[in-house]
Amino acid sequence: MSRSAHPAGPRHADVLPEGHYTAPPADLNVLDEKVWARTVGRNDDGVVTVGGIEVTRLAEEFGTPAYFLDEADFRARCRAWADAFGKDADVFYAGKAFLSRAVVRWLKEEGLNLDVCSGGELTTALDAGMPADRIAFHGNNKSQEEIDRAVEAGVGRIVVDSFQEIVRVAHTAQRLGTRQRVQIRVTVGVEAHTHEFIATAHEDQKFGIPLAGGQAAEAVRRALRLDGIELIGIHSHIGSQIFDTSGFEVAAHRVVRLLAEIRDEHGIELPEIDLGGGLGIAYTSDDDPREPHDIAKALSEIVTRECEAARLRTPRISVEPGRAIVGPTAFTLYEVGTIKPLEGLRTYVSVDGGMSDNIRTALYDAEYSVALVSRTSTAGPMLARVVGKHCESGDIVVKDAFLPADLAPGDLIAVPATGAYCRSMASNYNHALRPPVVAVNDGEARVIVRRETEEDLLRLDVG
Ligand SMILES: *Cc1c(COP(=O)(O)O)cnc(C)c1O
Repeated sequence: MSRSAHPAGPRHADVLPEGHYTAPPADLNVLDEKVWARTVGRNDDGVVTVGGIEVTRLAEEFGTPAYFLDEADFRARCRAWADAFGKDADVFYAGKAFLSRAVVRWLKEEGLNLDVCSGGELTTALDAGMPADRIAFHGNNKSQEEIDRAVEAGVGRIVVDSFQEIVRVAHTAQRLGTRQRVQIRVTVGVEAHTHEFIATAHEDQKFGIPLAGGQAAEAVRRALRLDGIELIGIHSHIGSQIFDTSGFEVAAHRVVRLLAEIRDEHGIELPEIDLGGGLGIAYTSDDDPREPHDIAKALSEIVTRECEAARLRTPRISVEPGRAIVGPTAFTLYEVGTIKPLEGLRTYVSVDGGMSDNIRTALYDAEYSVALVSRTSTAGPMLARVVGKHCESGDIVVKDAFLPADLAPGDLIAVPATGAYCRSMASNYNHALRPPVVAVNDGEARVIVRRETEEDLLRLDVG
């Protein structure tokens, strides 16, 4: 991916170049608790700790780059979502954000349900003991083999995404002598206020069946005619990294209108609606996410109001937060390598990972923050761009952030809020070895996904 070069010509060193940053923070040593996992802090020596363990010790034991996940924070977020939505709603963690056997066990213990969207995610969920009826299966192009496995396992619901799939699921269930509970995913025509590539409810895209033109109503008609399917509800997911509930308001309004049409046409009231995930988290100090309780209250008020207006019984609500649960719980720890100050521009700080462990900056223009974590510093702020070691100039981890001007090779820096869509989107580009995920809890650290080895790479290469 190429990015436009900076305009050539002289620049004043005291004029900061264009970027995403605002002003440097008053004290670079202070960790903004908004963007760091709950148990992260600095000890008396100025070293950052998580779950009571110094990052310097973690780097020694587990190497860098590595993701460190605060288990207590993860569990607390699960509980906060479950409590906020209470008994009358279901919380499904979106496994695509980050999934491993340990994560599945935590979800199970904390009472959450789980969304999967591939055979691989389904296998991980079942292998770690998630009861099938607490699993929802997603995806816009599920293979016949994946549908077979999901129905055979007895997943709680399949969220169907196309006309072809309605028929496939129905036939599969019939063949297996069962009835599959199904929701139909619709696109409601909402443009979520988020990056174009992660807004998923406007109509010109691959997910869902449009409400527009009566397509969703036709999908419902077909589903109701097929014996292998028990249609339990309508599903809508409007995007990701969303901070206000206005998009959900429009989505709920339109989904409830469909429920009313279904009642009028078929004489049935579908018992469930799913409003998807997409709730935003703080990647930088500028982001202000809402608390689960706030969100739950707002969503349930919206749905209740809409249903009262349509004279419908209020359906059971479900939501599917991924990022909002796991995102804030982890940080990526890197060792600083080369440092290149570019006069009048910024200082390029290279780390021992990059786009192979965090593709989101290159893919979505995502913003992150970064801090020096192996020590404190009294040096002034230096405008830095944290880049990886890959053969790509778009290999940027943190576009613009301030680091202390005395930063040196060998220092450890950490990028917070990398729990979601970083390890799960990690690649072997340049034959990089995907980093481990280490769970830290109350003075103990254990690997839950191990670091890849060169033998792992060679094992796949059978030529
Ligand atoms: C990606 C996705 C989610 C989770 O989105 P987050 O932004 O991680 O909360 C939930 N539901 C569906 C259908 C998704 O595709």
